[in-house]
Amino acid sequence: MDLELTEICTCENKEAHMEAVIELPSFDSKLGSFPFLEKKPFELHIVNRENKHLLVEGETDVMIAIPCDRCLKEVPVRIHLIFDKKFPLKETEETKEEVQEADYMKGFHLDVDRLVYDEILVNWPMKVLCKDDCKGICRKCGADLNLQDCNCGEDELDPRMAAIQDIFNKFKEV
Ligand SMILES: [Zn+2]
Ligand SMILES: [Zn+2]
Repeated sequence: MDLELTEICTCENKEAHMEAVIELPSFDSKLGSFPFLEKKPFELHIVNRENKHLLVEGETDVMIAIPCDRCLKEVPVRIHLIFDKKFPLKETEETKEEVQEADYMKGFHLDVDRLVYDEILVNWPMKVLCKDDCKGICRKCGADLNLQDCNCGEDELDPRMAAIQDIFNKFKEV
């Protein structure tokens, strides 16, 4: 969603509460495409501070389906997003860099989806498990070891080994 902020940006000390809607159907990154299970409209508080800065504040929760690191079953993960951004309204030498960083602010338009995307990326969970002691999938026969035992023997990892395995898998992905 694109929020039109011309009036606030051009009117000194103006404040507004605006409802923002996430239009993104999923969070797509180099790790894959993760559908939103829940997202709701949320309120942004926007202030023009003496025509120098625009402050954008608000918070919301989203629920995203992320596969378990061990067994790949989808786990609903709640991510809390807090927005507390400051954009320069005038471009000066000092603010030039800030302007470039803020690619979700184009002219007097705020790209809400872009803002949400960046915030999810920053808050992305390091580890996702369907349960703490998830036994994962047998790498020989593909059996879900939470549901059944298999006879492949040595590949059955105890949870401590599985944790180490997770670390190795993470390194491989990078
Ligand atoms: Zn699992
Ligand atoms: Zn097996």
